[in-house]
Amino acid sequence: GQCVRACPCGALDYVRERGDVFTAINDPNTVVVGFVAPAVRSVIAAEYGIEPAEASAFIAGMMRKVGFDKVFDFSFAADLTILEETTEFLDRVGRGGVLPQFTSCCPGWVNLVERRYPELIDHLSSCKSPQQMMGTTVKHHFAQQAGIALDDLYVVSIVPCIAKKYEAARPEFARDGVRDVDAVLTTTEFLEMMQMLRLEPADVEPGEFDEPYARVSGAGVLFGASGGVAEAALRMAVEKLTDEPLVEHLDFHELRGTAGLKEATVSAGGVDVRVAVVSGLGNAEPLIRRVIAGEDVGYDLVEIMACPGGCVSGAGHPVPTCADETPGRQQVLVDIDQLSPIRKSQENPDILRLYDEFYGAPASPLAHELLHTTYAPFRG
Ligand code: SF4
Repeated sequence: GQCVRACPCGALDYVRERGDVFTAINDPNTVVVGFVAPAVRSVIAAEYGIEPAEASAFIAGMMRKVGFDKVFDFSFAADLTILEETTEFLDRVGRGGVLPQFTSCCPGWVNLVERRYPELIDHLSSCKSPQQMMGTTVKHHFAQQAGIALDDLYVVSIVPCIAKKYEAARPEFARDGVRDVDAVLTTTEFLEMMQMLRLEPADVEPGEFDEPYARVSGAGVLFGASGGVAEAALRMAVEKLTDEPLVEHLDFHELRGTAGLKEATVSAGGVDVRVAVVSGLGNAEPLIRRVIAGEDVGYDLVEIMACPGGCVSGAGHPVPTCADETPGRQQVLVDIDQLSPIRKSQENPDILRLYDEFYGAPASPLAHELLHTTYAPFRG
């Protein structure tokens, strides 16, 4: 009503999304699918005192209790992103394409490029973010497999990030008028839904995420913290470059932690892959200026996350009670990765089956149609 129209920044429109989610949940004809970002589990684990090993099952149970019909883990789409993004990276290396390749999974960073540094657009990976890859896969693969009409399907992501609300609403992320993701809830909003429904942690029955995307790799979970995307990509790039399974050195410790700039050079198959990880947009500016000036910055692959420490510090999480909470949140994800039976995205059997039965192969025409995007300078 009045207050929504009075809001100068549109934030109240976003609040309205939670009402839309409840409306969809209460509609018996609508199948409501929810998927949750990796970083959310670290905060929920801290909020309810859950051990890292049990955090994923607890969240799946929470989502069912709130009323979602199907619950997926979007670490699955992080695995999908790694297959697409690493394939794109190796292709650029092989054909002498534009390098360094910048990650594109953080909408805060993509916005900065489109608005202030459009000269960098060719450096951005063409991959959609995991949120959008998950949404489009649910809308086109899951819907087809489950025999659900798109009008009866409502897809919700639960994320640490306010910018992901804007990202989901971009016109590029709708196909024939059907959005990849219908609504985006922050971690805080999801916790509030639990409170509005008067649900206590004891009411939650932990469970598995649903098929056909039940299995995720530890690498996909690492996406939630700074360095995770680069580490997951290296686990695949090294295997592809050496043509041998990566058995040791799965952990790239030098890329973890909350420093504003981290670097690593990894030699594989006669190629040196030079990686940088930047977290906090202020830390990106010096690098951006050097790339625009045409300098050889000495990197081939650069991960950039707008939030200091990555998505574990996203503005959609509850405000930390102490300044040094970020390393603890990151450690939860590292612990989950260590405990994971699958630690490489390219070994996730559910991902391999999805390619077999739907996308064909990374960078296939269908993968390009559904999993990749384009960027344009912002004209406000
Ligand atoms: Fe969102 Fe921050 Fe993560 Fe970027 S780093 S995707 S702005 S939570």
